[in-house]
Amino acid sequence: MADIKSPEERSKNMAAIKSRNTKPEVYLRKKLFSIGVRYRLGVDNIPGHPDLWLKKYNTAVFVHGCFWHRHKNCRYAYMPKSRIDFWSSKFDANILRDRYVQDLLYSQNIKCLIVWECTVRKMQKDTIVCEEVTAAIVDFLCSKDLFLEL
Ligand SMILES: [Zn+2]
Repeated sequence: MADIKSPEERSKNMAAIKSRNTKPEVYLRKKLFSIGVRYRLGVDNIPGHPDLWLKKYNTAVFVHGCFWHRHKNCRYAYMPKSRIDFWSSKFDANILRDRYVQDLLYSQNIKCLIVWECTVRKMQKDTIVCEEVTAAIVDFLCSKDLFLEL
């Protein structure tokens, strides 16, 4: 099909695509900030070096890439068609490390929130999903629960 869009239209499209493709971690961070949740980045004294550390809520937040962290039943967690042994051992190591970090956080009574990349993508596309997920996060932060995965 021929490209019949004017340059202005095209650059508008590109801008829309770009804003939709904001890194999930940055998107979630901005969302949390907008509802008054304050965080620290790059905290290295908390197990697993969480993407965000919410001191007030004693919560480590991880935005997990579905491919690398093997999100169960997620279409982004596909298996590459070649070098299957290489990928399998890499994925197994990632899964083990994640489990280890979660156990460590649990044993230290630190709350652990995992938000999958595909969940953030859905939030970016759909405001209702965005509000639902945000509400679930707030509920979790204010609860006594130690683990939530969204
Ligand atoms: Zn996923």
